[in-house]
Amino acid sequence: MKYVSYLLNNFKNIPQINKIDKQLVEDIEIVGSVLPFKTNNYVVDNLIDWNNIPDDPMFKLTFPQRDMLLPHHYEQMKSVVFNGADKQKIKQTANDIRLQLNPHPAGQLEYNVPMIEGEKLYGMQHKYRETVLFFPSQGQTCHAYCTFCFRWPQFVGMEDLKFASKEAELLVKYVKDHEEVTDVLFTGGDPLIMKTKHLEAYIRPLLDAKIEHLRNIRIGSKALAYWPYRFLTDDDADDLLRLFEDVHKAGKHLAYMAHFNHPAELDGYAVEKAIKRILDTGAVIRTQSPVLKHINNSPEIWADMLRKQVKLGCVPYYMFVARNTGAQHYFSIPLVEAWKIFRETYQSVSGICRTLRGPSMSCLPGKVQILGVAEVKGEKVMVFRMIQGRNPDWAARPFFAKYDDKAIWYTDLKPAFGEEKFFFTDELNEILNPQQVEYDLE
Ligand SMILES: *Cc1c(COP(=O)(O)O)cnc(C)c1O
Ligand code: SF4
Repeated sequence: MKYVSYLLNNFKNIPQINKIDKQLVEDIEIVGSVLPFKTNNYVVDNLIDWNNIPDDPMFKLTFPQRDMLLPHHYEQMKSVVFNGADKQKIKQTANDIRLQLNPHPAGQLEYNVPMIEGEKLYGMQHKYRETVLFFPSQGQTCHAYCTFCFRWPQFVGMEDLKFASKEAELLVKYVKDHEEVTDVLFTGGDPLIMKTKHLEAYIRPLLDAKIEHLRNIRIGSKALAYWPYRFLTDDDADDLLRLFEDVHKAGKHLAYMAHFNHPAELDGYAVEKAIKRILDTGAVIRTQSPVLKHINNSPEIWADMLRKQVKLGCVPYYMFVARNTGAQHYFSIPLVEAWKIFRETYQSVSGICRTLRGPSMSCLPGKVQILGVAEVKGEKVMVFRMIQGRNPDWAARPFFAKYDDKAIWYTDLKPAFGEEKFFFTDELNEILNPQQVEYDLE
């Protein structure tokens, strides 16, 4: 299968696009000038149900929608896109809007950059003790873009916000020097957008270095959903699977972190076959997704998705909460609502599917999971715990917030029982800001 990429400048060549409402096409042009837009022939021909436009979840997941911009931003953008403004003006307007969409949530740029010999390693993040995130420089795009993606600034050319690394050597050195690191997680964009020979140039040195404490090589990718031919018919598909096999042979666990947002992405011969080929290398596929309004905000959809995943041999891993960036207002649901979806999903599937954890917010202090709503001595509270903490000691500690059925992110939460702060607040301030200067927490 030949990969055909569709962007803002050629999406009108998609035959199915000519049949949809003209207003939707205009919306794609306007919103797609601000938020990233890219899709491909597999997504268009196999995942989207074109008889169900505009409601189709895969359409909303991959094509920009009017309401993804706030009304005044939409009007502002419309006025330049359709009034003959020059490219420079369009770009400037788009950037003005982008900067209002919280382009770097959770302090990714400032706080998690590791150092080696006094130099900052901008292609890496080291937030949780065991796991180093690595962003290969050639892996900073994807086979198609998700409209909810928190990495959107990387895709729209806000260059100064982009972080990527060429430094395979420094990665090996860093991991060697840090015995607490058991996992290296390759992420992006999508690292599997890279040719195998490039990915290999990062992974083989890690294997060759024979680092005892390095146990897991993880690859976070949406390729199974958006381009399963990466594992089937692409020129270097077989080389990729051989690389996975070699990771296994070297005694390391290849953990494929698959992003699936909707059960439709698990249908069809190509994805089934691709999953099988990956599993045959000895790798394990774990799955994750945020819970998203318009896409998958129902327990039926989640239960269907988990069952399909398990049937195909994948292990459900994380349910996330939509991050506070980009089109969050479009996708987000209250935390209480996310928990209800999690709970009803959990109740309706067997234990094999209940390896799913969440709903979890990846935020400044850590990965914060909502455990539910409870009443303690007459006060209605929300119960949380940290799955990961910036301080490892915070993990698995429960804490309580005032009940708030509108809260969509941890910054909306107030401590319960009349307390002034959460157990981690002071320490988090100290970790982030050793000089003790007050500032706004994300
Ligand atoms: C989620 C995440 C990880 C991996 O966490 P696990 O719970 O081990 O899957 C690592 N680093 C960052 C910054 C993360 O957000
Ligand atoms: S595939 Fe992953 S990184 Fe790429 S747009 Fe989707 S969520 Fe973002």
